[in-house]
Amino acid sequence: MNHFELLDGPGGAELACEDVPLARIAEAVGTPVYVYSSATLERHYTVLRDALVGAGLKDPLIAFAVKASSNVAVLRTLARLGAGADVVSEGEVRRALAAGVPPERIVFSGVGKTEAEIAFALEAGVAEINVEAEPELHLVNRVAQRLGRRAAVAIRVNPDVEAGGHAKISTGKSENKFGVSFSEAERLYANAANMAGVRPVGVACHIGSQITDLAPMEQAFGKMRGLVERIRAEGLTIERLDLGGGLGVPYFNQPIPPSPDDYAAMIGRVMQGLDVQFAFEPGRMIAANAGVLVARVIHVHERPEGRRFLVIDAAMNDLLRPAMYDAYHDIRPLRPRTGEPVAYDVVGPICETGDTFTRDRLLPPLEAGDLVAFMSAGAYGAAMSSEYNSRLLVPEVLVKGAEFAVVRPRPTYADMLDRERPAPWL
Ligand SMILES: *Cc1c(COP(=O)(O)O)cnc(C)c1O
Repeated sequence: MNHFELLDGPGGAELACEDVPLARIAEAVGTPVYVYSSATLERHYTVLRDALVGAGLKDPLIAFAVKASSNVAVLRTLARLGAGADVVSEGEVRRALAAGVPPERIVFSGVGKTEAEIAFALEAGVAEINVEAEPELHLVNRVAQRLGRRAAVAIRVNPDVEAGGHAKISTGKSENKFGVSFSEAERLYANAANMAGVRPVGVACHIGSQITDLAPMEQAFGKMRGLVERIRAEGLTIERLDLGGGLGVPYFNQPIPPSPDDYAAMIGRVMQGLDVQFAFEPGRMIAANAGVLVARVIHVHERPEGRRFLVIDAAMNDLLRPAMYDAYHDIRPLRPRTGEPVAYDVVGPICETGDTFTRDRLLPPLEAGDLVAFMSAGAYGAAMSSEYNSRLLVPEVLVKGAEFAVVRPRPTYADMLDRERPAPWL
């Protein structure tokens, strides 16, 4: 469920975010622009938390995956509800802290943390560092000792299950670069318990993204439970079990993911009687349907052979998912249009064939100046945006009720050029 609906206005019905017509934001801020709904963000967080608590998990840590939507205002909206943050770089630790996420709710994941990043995270007092490889465990141990600290660590396991979804977002097969095997995890956990600079507190997994089938998760989580029990059987203590993120969202026309209730009920069943604190790292399921990308039609280019290109002012640098993952985004005109649907190739202005959002998409007839919204663009949208082709970084707007705020303004061309420096010999 989300808060992007048609609203009746003086000029007829138009697509709005909560109580704000998207066209009003487009006029005020220009296009392309990302628009997020506070109500949807809050609802998704609350629905997940209530489902997990309802399934018998007491006081779960829900650490929002900052990489999905890293705007500080988005993070603050969630932090106010008690969300933590799952971060994968020093920049993301800084964003989470800037948003008011308490350090004891920050989980530091990621395949290649540098010494400087580990030191920063330890000084900040993050809850846990998820260690992904043996050399990293030794590095954390060394850095923590140098700082006179003891780092709480969890060992990230690669459960070696096939989670479905796109190959580029599958992370839980042993051929993927993430985490260690179960036997390796047991060994590292025991080693960690003997290290002066670390304190093992848990184990973690994250098997992929946009998962629409509970079976691989159930399989992985069952194995994670077994691991916790084996570690305890060795006489070691373990407090936390981090089950990652990855739950899919209902993208229009795509397989329907399990509901948060079904996901939580499955976890409740698999984990029944296991006394640990559970942690989760959801990104997409909280943010995807809480955001849209609004763009304007520049022109319609009809080829004599029949292809019809809808050229818009958003491009792959603003929304990379279609180019990178063949992702499908529903595209809706901000004002409902009548007329027989027409097949368009929707493209951006970038000089790459990959700058194609979709081909042969049936849409109502559109013309230059019309506004459209890419739905379900709140996760891995603005967070992946760039200035490729020297296009200005796309702005972001947060809506709450009848109000909106520009939470990342569009830079100016001067801002863009001022970041660079001449070389002394030029
Ligand atoms: C990307 C990522 C997530 C979030 O995945 P979603 O599919 O957006 O829920 C969580 N944990 C880790 C370690 C990740 O890399």
